[in-house]
Order: sequence, then C-alpha cells, then structure tokens
Amino acid sequence: MTLSRDQSLLPVPARVRGVRELSADTTLYLLSMEGGEGERFDFTPGQFVQLSVPAGGEAPVSLAGPPRGDGCLELCVRRVGHVTGMLHRILPGGRVGVRGPLGNGFPLNEWTGRNILLIAGGLGIAPLRSLLYALLMRRGEFGEITLMYGAREPAAILFKEELADLSSRRDMHLFLTVDFATEEAPGGLTCNTGLLPTLLRGVNFGTADTVAALCGPPPLYRCVVAELQGAGIPAERIYLSLERRMKCGVGLCCHCAVGDLFCCSDGPVFRYSDLQGVSGAL
Ligand SMILES: Cc1cc2nc3c(=O)[nH]c(=O)nc-3n(C[C@H](O)[C@H](O)[C@H](O)COP(=O)(O)OP(=O)(O)OC[C@H]3O[C@@H](n4cnc5c(N)ncnc54)[C@H](O)[C@@H]3O)c2cc1C
Repeated sequence: MTLSRDQSLLPVPARVRGVRELSADTTLYLLSMEGGEGERFDFTPGQFVQLSVPAGGEAPVSLAGPPRGDGCLELCVRRVGHVTGMLHRILPGGRVGVRGPLGNGFPLNEWTGRNILLIAGGLGIAPLRSLLYALLMRRGEFGEITLMYGAREPAAILFKEELADLSSRRDMHLFLTVDFATEEAPGGLTCNTGLLPTLLRGVNFGTADTVAALCGPPPLYRCVVAELQGAGIPAERIYLSLERRMKCGVGLCCHCAVGDLFCCSDGPVFRYSDLQGVSGAL
C-alpha cells in the first residue's frame, strides 16, 4: 500500500478489540481501524506503524499478523518505557492512533520458488510471524519453509500455543532455542538450549535456493549473517530488518539514518548486500 505524505503523517483512530498476554512484559493487541479506514488498510509483512496512545506520544511497532483485509491489525508490544507502558494500561474498547503502514516490508513476490529460512530472536518474532503466516497463506508458491526462533528463556517464548500448532504442521519446519533453560519448555514444545548461531550450525536447511529473513536484537545480526554466508547463502539473499530510534517514520527527520539510508523509509527491511560497507548498519 502506498500512502501520500499527508496520509502517512496523520494518525487514524483505532479501537483495541482484543488483548492477549504473551509473556510477563509482552502483549498482543488486536486493533480495528475506525471511520472506514479499515477497508483501505493493507500492508506487506515487515512494514510497521507509528502507534500513538492518547496524551502519550508515538512508538514504531511492527505489524505482527498477516494482512487480513478486514480492517484489523495485530501488534505485539513489549512494555519498556513511556508509550508502551501507557499502551499496556489501555483496556479492550480503548482508543489509540495508527499512522501507516510505513516502511517497505519483505519482497515476498521475489521469493517464489525459493526455500525460505526465517530467523527470529526475541521480539523479532513479531514481524516474522506476519511474514510466516503470509507465506503459509501462499504455501504452494514456495519451497521448504523453516522458522528458527530463539528466546532468552522458556518463559520468554512468545506465541507458545501457536508454535505448538506450527510444530505439528507437515509443510514447514520449526526449531526453537533458549539461551538458558531454567524450566521445561512450555506446552510440550521441543526446545534446544544455546544461541541461535549454534542452532543454525546444527540444522541442515539446504542453502542452494534459500532466502533468509532475519529479525532480532542488533548483536545477533553479525554472527547469524556470518553463519548464513558460511553456509553458502549469498548476501543478496539475506534480508535483515533494522531497528533504530524513529520519529517521523517517513524519511523527514533523519533520526533513523544509517549512512545515506533512512531505516524508516528505505527500510526497515534491507538486503545484506545493500548494507555491506554502510558504516554503523550492523
Ligand atoms: C521498525 C521498528 C519496529 C518495532 N517493532 C516493535 C514491535 O513489534 N514491538 C515492540 O514492542 N517494539 C517494537 N519496536 C521498538 C519500539 O518502538 C520501542 O520499544 C518503543 O519506541 C519504546 O517506546 P517507549 O516510549 O515505551 O519507551 P521510551 O520511554 O522511549 O524508552 C524506554 C527504553 O527503551 C529504549 N528504546 C526506546 N526506543 C528504542 C528503540 N527503537 N531501540 C532500542 N531501544 C529503544 C530507550 O533507550 C529506553 O531505555 C520497534 C522499533 C522499530 C524502529
């Protein structure tokens, strides 16, 4: 969906329709756009919105569900500070503002016929959940689909019930890992212990025709990219979603500049080949 500059600067009112607690500090919100905006709201996985809470301000948040076409959207938000703290106090029925969708998203149409490897660390599962469901909705167009998801500890694994369902599907592969295991993996999930790069080393994901999409905390990127390249996936088939402090979300304020690139409007999704040589990108 392409927005005019005015549209992408103007928040649209939305109502909180559902709230699902995913972990001690992270909640999934189902929002519905108001005033007829719903029918027009379409997006590509990997895009984000600027979410505003009344008298609170805005925060960029990834679209966490697939495009649904019914004016509803899902956002998975971790409570870390001012805006996200105020959001977590809003009850179902409450109102928020949504500006977007913003940014570029993952180029799914360029991936048809390829194997797809999704690698999510922590909250990086939010945009990759959107991408995964969008891929599964078009399942016949892609080769093998693999999701690798790493969380800090079992209690921090998000979307546990959905992961249990996904693990029983025969048309995709799921690998989970936690940095340290203080308790059993929840809900019968099979979970490794160790960091994502280690998990990656132990899995044969057939690199010949594979596209990798990666989202997680910045320290993860260098070592995962090194593993992927070591396994034979070229830089132009590795896609990263970069997270930077953002304000305007539309390439005006320069808060999220990385070299000559703006994370908000040129990204947040980049091919690794486009980031090589860009100082401070990773
Ligand atoms: C493209 C994009 C997509 C995002 N998607 C999600 C998502 O799906 N779910 C989600 O929970 N969060 C997401 N974030 C991060 C989210 O925007 C920040 O957590 C939020 O802006 C914090 O706002 P706050 O007012 O609650 O925190 P503040 O009160 O502003 O800050 C609280 C703490 O968080 C730190 N912080 C704030 N913003 C960032 C940031 N962008 N990067 C690193 N540290 C930060 C501050 O330094 C401070 O320590 C995304 C960010 C970007 C840029």
